[in-house]
Amino acid sequence: MPSIAVLRQWRSAVLFCLGLSVVAAALPAQRGRDEYARHPGQRPDVTIFSELDLPAPNRTRTGAGAPGPDYWQQQVDYRIDVELLPDERLVRGKEHVVYHNNSPERLTYLWVHLEQNILRKDSIGTLTEGGAAMAQGESDASEGVMLSDVSHDGKALEYQVYDTLMRVHLPTPLAPGARYECDIAWSFHVPQRVFRRYGTMETKNGVIWELAQWFPAVAVFDDVHGWNTLPYLGTGEFYTNYGDYELNITAPRDHIVVASGVLQNPTDVFTDQQLTRLAKARQTRQTVMIRSGEEVTQADSRPAGQGPLTWRFKAEQVRTVAWASSPAFVLDAATTNTGVLVQSAYAAEYSAQWSKSTAMLCTAIEGYSRRLWPYPYPVATNVGGVEGGMEYPMIIFCSGRSRSEQGLYGVTTHEIGHNWFPMMVNTDERRHAWMDEGFNTFINIYSTVDWFEDHVPGKPGRFGGMLKMPGVPIVTNADRLNGMQLGMLQYEKTGVGLQLLREVVLGPERFDFAFRTYVERWRFKSPQPADFFRSMEDAAGMDLAWFFRGWFLEDAMLDQAVDSVRQPTGNRGARITIVNKERMVMPLDFEVTFEDGTIERFKVPVEVWAQSDRIVRAMESTKKVVKVHIDPDGMIPDVSRDNNLWEAGD
Ligand SMILES: [Zn+2]
Repeated sequence: MPSIAVLRQWRSAVLFCLGLSVVAAALPAQRGRDEYARHPGQRPDVTIFSELDLPAPNRTRTGAGAPGPDYWQQQVDYRIDVELLPDERLVRGKEHVVYHNNSPERLTYLWVHLEQNILRKDSIGTLTEGGAAMAQGESDASEGVMLSDVSHDGKALEYQVYDTLMRVHLPTPLAPGARYECDIAWSFHVPQRVFRRYGTMETKNGVIWELAQWFPAVAVFDDVHGWNTLPYLGTGEFYTNYGDYELNITAPRDHIVVASGVLQNPTDVFTDQQLTRLAKARQTRQTVMIRSGEEVTQADSRPAGQGPLTWRFKAEQVRTVAWASSPAFVLDAATTNTGVLVQSAYAAEYSAQWSKSTAMLCTAIEGYSRRLWPYPYPVATNVGGVEGGMEYPMIIFCSGRSRSEQGLYGVTTHEIGHNWFPMMVNTDERRHAWMDEGFNTFINIYSTVDWFEDHVPGKPGRFGGMLKMPGVPIVTNADRLNGMQLGMLQYEKTGVGLQLLREVVLGPERFDFAFRTYVERWRFKSPQPADFFRSMEDAAGMDLAWFFRGWFLEDAMLDQAVDSVRQPTGNRGARITIVNKERMVMPLDFEVTFEDGTIERFKVPVEVWAQSDRIVRAMESTKKVVKVHIDPDGMIPDVSRDNNLWEAGD
């Protein structure tokens, strides 16, 4: 892995080889024409090295890729009272919304997401792969969100519902700096079978309920798109405002409830014994059982009395809230060495793996806190239920039936990783899923080693085949991708891209500083792709246009190849010609083996490809060359590795 010192050596090496032993076969203008001949859809004046065509910087988003002096974002606070009625499979809520208009614009309406409307038979989501998978829920949920009140100060407000969106008309325009309060009451049925984000799982001791994307939430109004009104189609997750929440959940007395937020009334909802155990869990990193598998079936593991109980939570500066409720929950807890209360709630019959969940979550949170930024919330809870893997602030849903340690750690570290991207760096998951899924896939690489110490991460060289996806760059809206493309582009290709940038292009120290700078600049704010590209170049101090264009903005492929080896003549050494056959470029790293078995390694910075697609390297030694191997360590994702190796006699 290159350090800064090695990179400096590369730079002096290229000056040396450009001056003395590399023959540029064409001028830059020629390179542009060559590229155009191979890629006729591209502008001949735009090479892979050209400056990126980004939106002009302004006082909101600067040229350095940071929030500007006039940066603003809206804030939306909620007080939600919700009731779970398991027999009717009904969720019934009312919310008081306080909308803070921090924008410089006057607003005459609010857009509000009603995401349960994706279950309606006439939802446009049913036409998409993601939505169709969701909507296989049963017909009892087909009415979507049932609104019973949309009002201000007791006076009904005019509104229109279009699919998963509602437009609420403001009686008078909302001035910059002003706030608006309104009340919404709604309910919806939870389908018997639902496959994404939320739903129910039967266990031997009762049903586990997971609730997410479940309440009317005001859409984002921002400086880039105005109102963000992309509908909920199932694949694109969510882009929401920060806000402070009071969340009061009323559930049957025999249920344990966990949620985004800090529990405000533990003495109302836990037994004395559980309170003592919880106090102990606050003092130790060792997992403490709060309610064991055996205790789940004992009536005295819930407070005595009649009727439902209300669990009161508060969450500050979160972009949504989610929760789970069940009579079947085993609950355990511990505290990370950074002071975060970590809990796991799961079914007794899956204890074999799930009893490790709290320790897993501690490890993952501590690793990300050390590498990126401290985990910003006081609590984190892992829930084992029907959802295979989904993230919300302070609470994650991981497959409740997980049977392998690899499987459970993999999903746990991924979902809690989302508390950095996008819960803390609030990107638009519907337009730019790569900025949360891919960044998270990248940080998961290092987190996996935290738990499985012998784990050796895959090298980016293995992923050359992933580039063979013509016409689909990473920067594609998630809902326009099928499941395979989503996984390949938004998760893997983006994750590998950042790994390449760290391990091959910048080196760990230089990359880590730049990546942390991006997190620091944008935590609790909303960056756009251009802000990420600019911030990384600004803090790394390197022109990365070629990398971002080739890897993220275009569908470019990479193919470095040994073209020819002319053996030594007289007192001249061998001449090795290496070509770059596709549009993507990467630094060149090759190894030459001479007939006496000696080996020399050559590293050439990426800039050499700005001059020509072909470089000729003259050997100083007059020994015969028997082997040339490009990228012998397998670090570069090359689409055809067979032409990376040349051996005498080929
Ligand atoms: Zn994810």
